[in-house]
Amino acid sequence: MAGIYLHIPYCRQLCYYCDFYRVVSHGDNSLFIEALKKEMTLRKNYLAGSNVSTIYFGGGTPSVLTAEETESVLDHIRNLFRVDSEAEITFEVNPDDVSLKYMKDLHMAGVNRISIGIQSLRDEDLKLMNRRHTAAQAREAIDNILKSGFDNVSADLIYGIPGMDPDNWAANIEETLSFDIRHLSAYHLTIEPGTLFYQMKEKGQLKEVDEDESTAEFNLLLEKTGKAGFINYEISNFGKPGYFSIHNTNYWKQVPYLGLGPSAHSFNGYSRQWNISDVKKYINAVNSGRLIFEKEELDIRTKFNEYVMTSLRTMWGIDLLYVEKIFEKEGYDYVVNLSGKFINYGLMRQDDNNLFLTNQGKMISDNIISEFIMPSPGQLLSP
Ligand code: SF4
Repeated sequence: MAGIYLHIPYCRQLCYYCDFYRVVSHGDNSLFIEALKKEMTLRKNYLAGSNVSTIYFGGGTPSVLTAEETESVLDHIRNLFRVDSEAEITFEVNPDDVSLKYMKDLHMAGVNRISIGIQSLRDEDLKLMNRRHTAAQAREAIDNILKSGFDNVSADLIYGIPGMDPDNWAANIEETLSFDIRHLSAYHLTIEPGTLFYQMKEKGQLKEVDEDESTAEFNLLLEKTGKAGFINYEISNFGKPGYFSIHNTNYWKQVPYLGLGPSAHSFNGYSRQWNISDVKKYINAVNSGRLIFEKEELDIRTKFNEYVMTSLRTMWGIDLLYVEKIFEKEGYDYVVNLSGKFINYGLMRQDDNNLFLTNQGKMISDNIISEFIMPSPGQLLSP
């Protein structure tokens, strides 16, 4: 089992909070699509013949692609890889790109899951973040996606936005869940270096929300999604039963994936590699039969840290039997000893052989997870 991720690096307008690799779209995707296909051909053996069970178009903004371009990319994947007939094929869209016809055409092209970047249903928030769409466009877009035949629809929301109080956030969640969507991803706004928001914060023009407000909004998220029948299967992800993102779940379960396009990451079980974050250099290199990427071989300690960091964020938690099998007694003792104090504080719990964060623990998940990170090389589990 394996996945394929395609990074479409173009956006029609750049959001002020975003630190993904992306450039402003110039309207013609043909050179990029050709390069993407060439990269696939060059790397057709990366997954060592594994069946591909998920394909994910992310970015950037995949909805700058036409349905025909999307179909041609999917055809190329199918020609080179063994794609399961029931593979989950996700496509991220921005509301202002959605029309009924476009969605029907994407469905016909083989896409079976849509992830729509709503972010907020308040125009003030959208304007502050320099989103290109309005709340009205987002509502119309969800309607069109649902009318076009997609039943597996996910929406993205952002909370912790300056100026959006918990009441507004509660209204945002309620209205989003009033549509017949099956999945919600909700992320707290983070102000990352290199973004316009960061510059504004440095100049005192933007103030991050305080911890109390963040906690109140996260609590509302847990409460309202729970009432609506969504399961919090990863800290930021909520799905109705049978509608969890298979692609993302596989990331968290260390399933190999091939990442294509500039800045895309790949993982084969032994190493991680990531393509150059420069679309022009990417296209030129691939056209001359080369790949420009950096690579990290994963030693046992890095694998341990990655496992703990990702699994603690999920509803499946840390599997102690797995830890003992892969990381031996040293890894097992390390996890069990550390978890004791968090269990005593009510921040973690243990069921049989699994350790999880409680809802209270999820509020300070970054702090807890950082304590589980194995110390520097030369100490425990050194290679
Ligand atoms: S948030 Fe999405 S649409 Fe906005 S700039 Fe980043 S990748 Fe593009």
